[in-house]
Amino acid sequence: MAAEIRLFPCLTDNFGYLIHDPGSKATASIDAPEAGPIIKALEREGWTLTDILVTHHHGDHVGGIAELKQKYNCRVVAPHDKTAKIPLVDVRVKQGDIVKVGNLLARVLETPGHTLDHISYVFDDDKALFAADTLFSIGCGRVFEGSYPMMWDSLLKLRALPDDFRLYCGHEYTAANVKFALTIEPNNPDLKARAEEVAQLRAAGKPTIPTLLGDEKKANVFLRADEPAVAASVHLKGASAAEVFGELRERKNKS
Ligand SMILES: [Zn+2]
Repeated sequence: MAAEIRLFPCLTDNFGYLIHDPGSKATASIDAPEAGPIIKALEREGWTLTDILVTHHHGDHVGGIAELKQKYNCRVVAPHDKTAKIPLVDVRVKQGDIVKVGNLLARVLETPGHTLDHISYVFDDDKALFAADTLFSIGCGRVFEGSYPMMWDSLLKLRALPDDFRLYCGHEYTAANVKFALTIEPNNPDLKARAEEVAQLRAAGKPTIPTLLGDEKKANVFLRADEPAVAASVHLKGASAAEVFGELRERKNKS
């Protein structure tokens, strides 16, 4: 049976996500920005939380774990890297591991760069990618702990997933990302189309997520650092994709 996915706002601009297996009734929260909205979403659906799948150690992704664990006694699945402080972890996972949420299967991809412990969860049967703060719509996470080449490699891992997979990311940053991306690729027709769509969604108070990975590959400049036109637009013709990516990220930091 197909998974049911719900998304809702948490904190200032985080997304909360629930993924539910109708067969077994198991329900996972992807990260736990804060307990309140997650509990409300569970109660709205009549679901019980069985698992929290943590992507990385930042406070706005783990802040709700303790309260949820106390209320539901759910399992906490977290990245293998034990140097990062994540509360109440039951299971550690690394690249290639499979996490079961009832009968749903999530494949773990290590996607370091934003943090060193960052992992993403791929539900292949449901064509869903939970990429947290590695890949945003028309953007990517800030590189806090890793290096630019490391983050670029992580983005390549995600870019290798099929076009019809949906991206569920950690934050509603799309409008700001579009504004920046247009400074690099003002004539990219797919980016211009996405810009229009995002403006309409935001005006209607709707989330810009999920998006199709195929659309991101065409419009997200951070996934396009190996396009000669993108290198040329930042005056790095002939440079490596990782260097071009680093320049894009630096410019975005200052934007
Ligand atoms: Zn983060």
